[in-house]
Amino acid sequence: MPTRKSPKLSKSPAEDLIPERRTLSALKTAAADCRACDLWKRGTQTVFGEGRRRSTVMFVGEQPGNEEDLTGKPFVGPAGRLFDDALEEAGIDRTQTYVTNVVKHFKWEARGKRRIHKKPNAQEIAACRPWLQAEIDLIKPKVIVALGATAAQSLFGPQFRVTKQRGQFLESTLAPYAMATVHPSSILRAPDDETRRLEHRRFVDDLKKLASVIT
Ligand code: SF4
Repeated sequence: MPTRKSPKLSKSPAEDLIPERRTLSALKTAAADCRACDLWKRGTQTVFGEGRRRSTVMFVGEQPGNEEDLTGKPFVGPAGRLFDDALEEAGIDRTQTYVTNVVKHFKWEARGKRRIHKKPNAQEIAACRPWLQAEIDLIKPKVIVALGATAAQSLFGPQFRVTKQRGQFLESTLAPYAMATVHPSSILRAPDDETRRLEHRRFVDDLKKLASVIT
């Protein structure tokens, strides 16, 4: 199986903001002032990753959502709650996990009074990569898991297809074990209850495969 290398990226101004003494709190403080792409103008605040320094598993999503943007915490909105439930069903201790996103500001567009998620583009993802890389370098997770297509393609290359390759362990330079699955928000968008139940079950099944390598 070929080892998946993350796509090569040009230098981002965020690289100059990474503190010399790398701790999670120093990184979070530095990222709060990041202006390396224009998304800081749209979001309320930088939403940095969260979890213990010695977490075994790192989950990487796309970007913070509306609630995350307002609270400053990742994975606390409806998708985050579904994610917590699925972790519990899979027997994974949330305290062993670190959660973050490839982009740390909420990108949205107005629809009436609502702020609707807008997918980050390649430049924004590349600009934010130093923060994600610093998190990976510091935590050195045993397992890295991309949630959704944006995160998977950012970590494993643009050819990666979550629809075809979800739930499979991959060779990666990022961690001893690597995998991608869907983003929990895609389960919330299922067209009906039956599909939602099925997709939730498939998601938990993917997570259970992780449980087998971290216990
Ligand atoms: S999205 Fe990332 S690179 Fe862009 S301003 Fe926010 S923290 Fe900086």
